[in-house]
Amino acid sequence: MGKKLTSRSEDYSKWYNELVVKADLAENSGVRGCMVIKPYGYAIWEKMQAQLDKMFKETGHENAYFPLFIPKSYLSKEASHVEGFAKECAVVTHYRLKNAEDGSGIIVDEDAKLEEELIVRPTSETIIWDTYRKWVQSYRDLPILVNQWANVVRWEMRTRLFLRTAEFLWQEGHTAHATRQEAVEEAEQMMHIYAEFVENYMGVPVIKGIKTESERFAGAEETYCIEALMQDGKALQAGTSHFLGQNFAKAFDVKFANKEGKQEYVWATSWGVSTRLMGALVMTHSDDSGLVLPPNLAPIQVVIVPIYKGMDQLDAIAEKVEPLVKELRSKGISVKFDKRDTHKPGFKFNEYELKGVPVRLAIGQRDLDNGTYEVARRDTLQKETIPASDVANKIETLLVEIQENIFKKALDYRESHITAVDSYDEFKKIIEEKGGFVSAHWDGSKETEDKIKEETKATIRCIPLDTEKEEGKCIVTGKASTQRVLFAKAY
Ligand code: AMP
Repeated sequence: MGKKLTSRSEDYSKWYNELVVKADLAENSGVRGCMVIKPYGYAIWEKMQAQLDKMFKETGHENAYFPLFIPKSYLSKEASHVEGFAKECAVVTHYRLKNAEDGSGIIVDEDAKLEEELIVRPTSETIIWDTYRKWVQSYRDLPILVNQWANVVRWEMRTRLFLRTAEFLWQEGHTAHATRQEAVEEAEQMMHIYAEFVENYMGVPVIKGIKTESERFAGAEETYCIEALMQDGKALQAGTSHFLGQNFAKAFDVKFANKEGKQEYVWATSWGVSTRLMGALVMTHSDDSGLVLPPNLAPIQVVIVPIYKGMDQLDAIAEKVEPLVKELRSKGISVKFDKRDTHKPGFKFNEYELKGVPVRLAIGQRDLDNGTYEVARRDTLQKETIPASDVANKIETLLVEIQENIFKKALDYRESHITAVDSYDEFKKIIEEKGGFVSAHWDGSKETEDKIKEETKATIRCIPLDTEKEEGKCIVTGKASTQRVLFAKAY
């Protein structure tokens, strides 16, 4: 397992990178900005997917799949969309390689140039709205509530495992509606679903809000978002849901006949969360000993480590443990009984601590004699010895308790890191020295937002939805403002 992790206080960023690799979640690949997600990391992602997928289906959505490639002309059809994504596009220009005549190796065959270049999808609005034109004729064809699980490519210059990669996995919902109101409601609904998932399953508290114009998705009329706060005081955009107006319907000529037989453009939304959520999960809960996983998403919820000398002792322990494993599994709890004789118990303890397994049971000869187990919880690192007859019930309640406790801990941290300020000097001091969200009045202009970003690196994370209106003055220009907005340095 090698040497200990760098601590968070020493170097937060190094701690994160080391942890992702050491806990076997992911590693860098030979392709710049693209990661390999390892089985343990992928198992967590699969649990996220399964739960989100369930929530999407419960709200009437269906999955479909669209092409990886988008003809360049499609991308250009919605002007602000292409402008927003142009700088990050990977482009396919040829479809064949050949041996160089001078024997220097494999080269692109210039005779195999594509007539129209293809973009590797950075997001799929364009190809999907080109398709929806064929699916929609009348109001009876609406709404379309489709989601796609896929990979996308955005050629990001500064990448970080999970948080920002050039290729990432995500889901993208794309819906089509007959009315503006229905589309707005859909976009809001999905923001709420994301918040519910992130809080109740990931245990990460979020703030719901809308983006300012300069942070809005390219091609959207409104971007709803959920924002989380990491342990180093930096914010992370955890999910976005866009109300796209009729922009894509107009660009792709998607019209429907309404009940009166009149032609109207269709209203749209799109919404997505990505493998970035894995980064949010790691950064929110983990500590200097390793990952801390919420029971609701942990691939292994309980690990049982036998402490034994010789096979006879192991057999006696296994005889005790195996019925318990069965009982826990029948309660829907995922359990691993780690009988490996190639590793010492101390090594296993470290490994499961590093991997964030919520509950660890240990059982040795003394426990056999006394009819007990040692139970250790990962979130607090507390241990206690309890009678074997209570262990199954204890684990059930403990898993619920851990899930609640880590959420509460993250919530306490966030609440103590939202600072309201009324002057720009105060603002700069908090951003620099304390971090977290800073709640301040802003005059609503792009110029002020840009100036603050340039001078402090803090951006407006969102205009929060659940706050009261309040008369005030912009901290920079002194102009009137009706609501505080949330600023932070962000990932
Ligand atoms: P967008 O389509 O830009 O609204 O992004 C949809 C979701 O993907 C948001 O939750 C983003 O935070 C996330 N996301 C955007 N870019 C990346 C990236 N390079 N790597 C990982 N996640 C990303």
